[in-house]
Amino acid sequence: MKSPAEVLDAFENIRRAQRAGVYAPHKPLLALLALARVQRDEPRQVEYGEIDGALKQLLTEFGPSSAPSSRHYPFWHLATDGLWDISGPRQTLARARGATPTLGELRQGHVKGGFPLDIDAALRADPLLLQTVASRMLDTYFPSSLHGDIASAVGLDLSAPPRELREDPSARETYAESQRKRRDPTFRDRVLRAYEYRCCICGFDLRIGHMPAGLEAAHIQWHNVGGPDIEPNGLSLCALHHKLFDLGAFTIEPQNHRVVFSQYAISGERGTTGHLQFHGRQILAPHDPGLSPAAQYLAWNASNVFKKPARSSSLTKSADQLT
Ligand SMILES: [Zn+2]
Repeated sequence: MKSPAEVLDAFENIRRAQRAGVYAPHKPLLALLALARVQRDEPRQVEYGEIDGALKQLLTEFGPSSAPSSRHYPFWHLATDGLWDISGPRQTLARARGATPTLGELRQGHVKGGFPLDIDAALRADPLLLQTVASRMLDTYFPSSLHGDIASAVGLDLSAPPRELREDPSARETYAESQRKRRDPTFRDRVLRAYEYRCCICGFDLRIGHMPAGLEAAHIQWHNVGGPDIEPNGLSLCALHHKLFDLGAFTIEPQNHRVVFSQYAISGERGTTGHLQFHGRQILAPHDPGLSPAAQYLAWNASNVFKKPARSSSLTKSADQLT
């Protein structure tokens, strides 16, 4: 098993191998996807075909426009950095390092890849090391505004493991178990789909090509305090409304799903075009009422996050009349 310093150094090698000024997100995205798999305690190696769809989506969303067609490159080339262990048919493995197999060859040959044994073991034994590696990758390759999006797209939990973990290694098994239960990489997509890929507050629905942009799945009861990855605990929000929601500028009433702004949320423009225009309006409902926000999570949000007191209902009434 490698030491934490050796593991950090191995991941640092990717950066050293890249040319300055070139944005090449392929390797970091595959590495982050693989780190999330280790965090969920999934098998060390995965067949290329199993993650092809995820890589395509990640590169479409977070890479330059030509990136998705070369999405299989890192599955082959990360081995050169000493960070990837490939197994598959002999004729594929016998290729020269620089001769990338085609996407079809990787898929049809059921080629498998994953972190080398010594790195994989070190990451599994030390959840904090895994998080440090993941945070450094995000810091090195992506602007901070995208860190949350990328982490949730690969299903990576970056909330710090509890302190007792640092002192008591036997707590790690329980922690790994809770990670398996808690982080679901499909949460974001399920929530956005429930709300038909628009912000449930303002209706924002911009796309870049086919990908929704600036749209996020918010936890109503925060994930780090036990809020589950299920649609009734999720809201599809634009980046601005997600931020305001997490800051407690507004909440949503548990019974009638109306948006209520805090008295502390102040804006010069209170009319129909200002930031407070959604006060008193109902959120745009999900296509299936069964996926609507559940009262227990909204109540948690209202008492733990929302900056009480709420604005008066007179504004609620006037907002009603406007709709
Ligand atoms: Zn919005």
